[in-house]
Amino acid sequence: MKIRIGPAGIPLSAKERTSICGVKTVSELGLNAMEVEFVRGVKMSEKAAIELGKVAKELDVSLSIHAPYFINLTSKDKSKILASHRMIRESAERGVAMEASIVVIHAGYYGLKNSQECTNAMIEEISKLENSFKNIILGLETTGRLSQWGTIDEILEVCKKLKFCVPVIDFAHIYARNGGKIDYSEIFDKIKKFKHIHSHFSSINWTAAGIGKGNEKNHLPISHNKPEFEPLAKEIIKRKLDITIINESPLLEKDALIMKRVFESLGYKF
Ligand SMILES: [Zn+2]
Repeated sequence: MKIRIGPAGIPLSAKERTSICGVKTVSELGLNAMEVEFVRGVKMSEKAAIELGKVAKELDVSLSIHAPYFINLTSKDKSKILASHRMIRESAERGVAMEASIVVIHAGYYGLKNSQECTNAMIEEISKLENSFKNIILGLETTGRLSQWGTIDEILEVCKKLKFCVPVIDFAHIYARNGGKIDYSEIFDKIKKFKHIHSHFSSINWTAAGIGKGNEKNHLPISHNKPEFEPLAKEIIKRKLDITIINESPLLEKDALIMKRVFESLGYKF
């Protein structure tokens, strides 16, 4: 069992807005993971990625990458699909350079396709990326909007076919999409076969869209308890999981430290 916790991006308290300073701050705070945010584009050079990887390794901070938000692998516009491939490939290259564990993507939208058609299209598109994922894995994130492809079941279907893919569990997104409900135990049952789980946590604002359905609005500090963190921590301890939890709340490292304290209060030693 191993728990890693860290912020989504450079901590707010980092003295410089650089990833290296971010990793150092994460380590000083007593955290042990950081997601590198390429959400607005892959702008880091290969050399900078290698440097970052060295610092992270020395400090035992595990790195992951969040690929750009613009990715849509099922766009009607072919050029957008090709641009998505490029962004994913570049994220993977930088990821390998910094020895990150995973590249996380929001894969795309249903458009006019139904769930199964969209899943089939995802399998076809993602399979074209296999060559870029020999030394790093591709994480498909559970999504928070009804228009976005990415329920756990859809993602698992892709992972079954493409072995370089794993699900990334964004608990807040699942909670929002289910209209303010989440069953942690059911989620972990579904992903039992994966040795390590990469995940995102925060509280979340959402709007209702029918019974048991909703759309995410914005991420919130975890003190909002939407969803609650402690039952999740208990489930993780009970199942002795190997997990990385990236805190995506606006309070980044502050909330990551609160999550760490919850685990410690349950007897886990970092
Ligand atoms: Zn995400």
